[in-house]
Amino acid sequence: MRGVTRTKTTETTTDAGLAKQSLDRGDTAQSLRRHPGTILCCRPMASLRYSYRLYPTTEQRRALAQTFGCVRVAWNDALARSQVSGAKYPGFAATSRLLTESKKSPERAWLNDVSSVSVQQSIRNLDVAFRRFFNGLNGKGPKAGFPTWKRKDGKQSAEFTRNGFKIQRGKLCLAKVGEVDVRWSRTLPSVPKTATITLDAAGRYHVSFTVEKADVVLEGGAPVGIDLGIKAFAAMSTGELVQAPDLKRLERRIGKAQRRLSRCQKGSARRGRAKLRVAKLNAALADTRRDFLENFSTRLVREHSLIALEDLNVAGMAKNHCLARAVNRQGWRMFRTMVESKCERYGREVRIVGRWEPTSQVCSGCGHRWGKLGLGVREVACEGCGEVHDRDINAAKNVVAAGLAETENGRGEWISRVVSMGTGVPFVEASTAGASLGIFAL
Ligand SMILES: [Zn+2]
Repeated sequence: MRGVTRTKTTETTTDAGLAKQSLDRGDTAQSLRRHPGTILCCRPMASLRYSYRLYPTTEQRRALAQTFGCVRVAWNDALARSQVSGAKYPGFAATSRLLTESKKSPERAWLNDVSSVSVQQSIRNLDVAFRRFFNGLNGKGPKAGFPTWKRKDGKQSAEFTRNGFKIQRGKLCLAKVGEVDVRWSRTLPSVPKTATITLDAAGRYHVSFTVEKADVVLEGGAPVGIDLGIKAFAAMSTGELVQAPDLKRLERRIGKAQRRLSRCQKGSARRGRAKLRVAKLNAALADTRRDFLENFSTRLVREHSLIALEDLNVAGMAKNHCLARAVNRQGWRMFRTMVESKCERYGREVRIVGRWEPTSQVCSGCGHRWGKLGLGVREVACEGCGEVHDRDINAAKNVVAAGLAETENGRGEWISRVVSMGTGVPFVEASTAGASLGIFAL
C-alpha cells in the first residue's frame, strides 16, 4: 500500500516538492534564502504539529493496543459519570481523583499496566472537550459538540506528555512500550512538548509532536490570482494551468472493494480483511490528494506576495448532483484552509474575492463585458481588444485584479472600471453570447 502512495507522491513532486521540503523541514533561514522569497525577520513562536510514521514491533503493538484501550476506558468512565441522570461534569480535579480511586479497585486495576501519563492525559483531554462544549453554549467560543464516546474500532490514539516519552538513539522511547522505530522524514525544529500516537483504520501508526517554531516572514514575489476549476485544478493569472493528480482509477478500485465488503458476512474474518482493504485504498486516495494540495499551496505561498482566491460556494455546488463528485474530489475547501494558514505563517496576504464578482464575464485586458458563458465555452475572443483568452486564465487575471483593488483602493474601483468599460454592450445572456460576441467553444 505504501508503494501506491509513494509512486503518486513522486509524480506530483517537482520543484513544488522541493519547496515544500525546505519550508517544512524546519531548517528555516538557510534553505529559504536560495529561493526568490527571502526572509527579513522572524516572528514570535507558533505551536505546530510534526508527524512521522512509526514502525512498532509486534510486542510494541500489543503494548500500544493496551494503552489505547486504557485511554479509551478512562475517557469513557469519566464521560459516563458525568452523564448519569442529573449529574453534571464535576471538573478535572474531581475526575482525576475518581480515576486514582478506580485504579485501586479490582475491576480497573489493569489501568496501572500502562503509562499513567497517557491515562491522565486522556481525562485532561476530556476536560478540554467539556470546556469547549460549555464555552460554545455560553457564546464564549465557537460551537462545539458534546464529548462523544471513544470507540474500539476505527482510529485509536494516546497522548504522552513530556515525562512519558523521549527521543534517544534516533528512536522514540515511550513509557511502558519501549523504543519504537521512527521514519524521521524531516528534522524537528525544537524539543517536542507532547507526542500523540495514532493507529488509523488502515493499520498505520503515526506520532504527532507538538513543537514551537518561529514564524518566518517571506518577502518578494508578484501577486497571483487563482481560478479553481474541475477540468484543471487551478488556472493561475500567470497563464499556468495546474492539473490535480488523476484519482479516477483509485476511486474505481475503492468502489469495487466497497461492493465486495458489502457482500461479506458480518463478523467474518473475510469481512475484516475486506474492510482493511477499503481503509487502505481510502488512505492512499487521501494521501495523494493531500500531498498535491500541500505542494501546490506551499509553492504559491513561497512564490507570491499576495494570493487572491474566489469565494466558491462549495456546499452549494456539491448539492448539484451532476457536479457533486467532481467538486468533492477536488478538495477546494482543504486547499483554501491550507493557503490561509500558510499565508498566516509566512507573512503573506490572502484575498478572498466575493462570489458574485463577474470574473468570467469580463475581459481581463480591456474590461469589455461579454456576459455569462456556457460551461462548455473554453476560449473567448474579446470584441473590445480582439485578444483570445483562455476562459479560466482570464478569470484568474480578474480574480487577482479584484483582490488587488480590495487592498489598494477599498472595494469598488475594480467594479467601476469593469462597468464603465463594459457599457458598450449590454448584459448578454449565455444562450446568445457565443454568436453575437465571437465566443467559441472548443
Ligand atoms: Zn478585451
